[in-house]
Amino acid sequence: MEIINYEILKKYPLCDRCFGRLYAKLLHATNIERGRALKLYKALELEAKIKKAKEEGIDYKEELELLKVLVRSGFNKIRLKEVLDENIEKENCPWCRNIFDKQKIDRLLNKTIELLKDYDFDTFLIGTHIPNEIKELEKEIETEFMESIKQEFGREFGKLLAVKLNKMPNKEYPDIVVHINPYTEEIYLQVNPLFIKGRYRKLVRGIPQTRWPCRKCRGKGCEVCNYTGKKYPISVEEIVAKPFLEATKGTDAKFHGAGREDIDVRMLGDGRPFVLEIKEPKIRKIDLNKIAEEVNKDGRVEILNLEFGKREDKVLIKNTPHKKTYRALVECSEKINEEELKLLEKELENRTIYQKTPKRVLHRRADLVRIRKVYKVKVNKVDDNHFEMIIYCDGGLYIKELISGDDGRTNPSVSSILNKQCICKELDVLKVHDDENNEKININNIEGGNNGRNE
Ligand SMILES: [Zn+2]
Ligand SMILES: [Zn+2]
Repeated sequence: MEIINYEILKKYPLCDRCFGRLYAKLLHATNIERGRALKLYKALELEAKIKKAKEEGIDYKEELELLKVLVRSGFNKIRLKEVLDENIEKENCPWCRNIFDKQKIDRLLNKTIELLKDYDFDTFLIGTHIPNEIKELEKEIETEFMESIKQEFGREFGKLLAVKLNKMPNKEYPDIVVHINPYTEEIYLQVNPLFIKGRYRKLVRGIPQTRWPCRKCRGKGCEVCNYTGKKYPISVEEIVAKPFLEATKGTDAKFHGAGREDIDVRMLGDGRPFVLEIKEPKIRKIDLNKIAEEVNKDGRVEILNLEFGKREDKVLIKNTPHKKTYRALVECSEKINEEELKLLEKELENRTIYQKTPKRVLHRRADLVRIRKVYKVKVNKVDDNHFEMIIYCDGGLYIKELISGDDGRTNPSVSSILNKQCICKELDVLKVHDDENNEKININNIEGGNNGRNE
């Protein structure tokens, strides 16, 4: 079997570039060079055959037909007078339909640059879209050495754009994807989000981590929510996102936390990891320290350790389990003494806790038994009915229920160990531990119960 299929030109008069693309994986040559060379070789062979046939007076119909096909596909090196004395018009290439014409490319480049001029970016990617009929044609003529026209166009257009803009194409993390259909000349931009990671501290109680839509109107705005669409007027997400949205001129922001604390729980210590995703930013080079200062002026929320992140940080942050250290203020129905508190410390050390889904979250979570561990507990008596607990434990353990026992749904609990009804009056997260293996935990060094400053 022949490797080069010249017969295909009878049905489709492919231009040099497209014919060369059918064998793109052979030789380091451009598609145009390769296509032209293949046609040149064939034409040379045909010319020789025809000449010989003429001399010998034998039939050369087949050779002549293929030669005409080459001319129709744009090959113009044939000594027409000697072998081919009829006028044959070059036909339009059905595969590329002139999408590589310089004029067309220039027009597309200018249009793209015009669209991009409002955006700050370093890297881009060309996403080429081709009409279905071209895809079908490609499937029909495909060879094992072929490159798709989509690939060639994207690469060539990307190279030209990179030079014009002095920016780098980037397959993995492009700031902007230029979607382009060179056949219809439709172009639109996909402006990828900007990711900023850091840690946040929540210094006050009563604000949720993320926007909490009004349950009645589901965010549309109604009498219940005072037409804000929100159940709570402000969230950590909104406080943090506002100055970022202003600085980046992004359209929206999404806050991804490494877990979340309850609304009435403070997040202290060195904070909880988060990733902020800014949608469609116009500006990417922002001064993170300046924005942190602005957020921190708020007084309710602080952010620290800011750096630029990547898309996968968002997934990572959601899926990495974090151990926690909490501070809880416990109220007891009966008087407690130091001995009982020492016992509590001992009983809870390295203790496995069986915890059925708390009653207060049963309406939105499956009823199952979680098995979590408490590693260490430190207890300080405040007065006869109050004591403070510092608890170092697995993430996902419900602390309020660890204290109350949740009517026996959490076992053991502070209430069951002391045999007295206890409740959690205040709760703070003092540390979200993120380097589980390398971190040496010494909860005696973690202070609790001050104004929320725990450095
Ligand atoms: Zn073509
Ligand atoms: Zn509402």
